[in-house]
Amino acid sequence: MRRLAFLSAVLLLTVLSQVGGAVLILAWLLGRALLPKGSLRGLAVLALFAILYSAATLVVIPPLAALAGRVPLPCRAEPGRPVATGSPLYCLLNRNYVDPRLVPLLDALAAAMEQAYPGTVTLYLDANFPFLDGMPLAPHLSHDDGRKLDLAFFYADPGGAYRPGSLRSPVGYWTFEQPGPDDPQPCIEPRWPTLRWDMGLLQGMYPDRPLEPERTRAALAWLLEEGPRFGLEKILLEPHLVHRLGLSSPLLRFQGCRAARHDDHLHLQITP
Ligand SMILES: [Zn+2]
Repeated sequence: MRRLAFLSAVLLLTVLSQVGGAVLILAWLLGRALLPKGSLRGLAVLALFAILYSAATLVVIPPLAALAGRVPLPCRAEPGRPVATGSPLYCLLNRNYVDPRLVPLLDALAAAMEQAYPGTVTLYLDANFPFLDGMPLAPHLSHDDGRKLDLAFFYADPGGAYRPGSLRSPVGYWTFEQPGPDDPQPCIEPRWPTLRWDMGLLQGMYPDRPLEPERTRAALAWLLEEGPRFGLEKILLEPHLVHRLGLSSPLLRFQGCRAARHDDHLHLQITP
């Protein structure tokens, strides 16, 4: 039973953070080698895991990932660099690594947003793991090579005023914008099998925090206009949002009705 729990933890940590499972195995091996058997050894292994994982995340992984061609995005906004992760979890779980070409793209977008709307913070969500082309960042099957990045929409308070650095859900996903009666709705017919989950039960649990359409439209318009200079290949966004925000570009694509929805965030990717 304990072995099964340990293996499950290794698997879960690998799926969530790529390196967490390997670090847990290392902590367990060190614990067995250095500590006497007893009821406290499990706790000591957990403490060792926390220390080793923190050291790996802060010190070891960034330079190794750079050798492998991926760099971490900044976790917090700083003066002169108004870009941050939408949730500390993305940095904690090493899900904030990208192809280095995505950094100037994101920085330029954030700078343009700050210039047009002072005080605006551009938030990113899931990016990629530090290593291994071909290993997807679950549940995003395509985030497996450093070239993919999800950006959060901008949100407002119920009165319509922009809320800097705010998401509607704690991690930024699963807070879907709903199409209006005149918007295109290509996925109205249910399909099976599908990865397009509507998360109906969750929708009523979030705070009343509407999309801030002006900043969201401006960010998308900037990406469509300036993004190709930085290697932008395409953006995934639901057709009803493309319509609502008045956008038009061959770079805007629809992922189809069997993949995850893109009206709670936007997905962008750069060329190979
Ligand atoms: Zn994505």
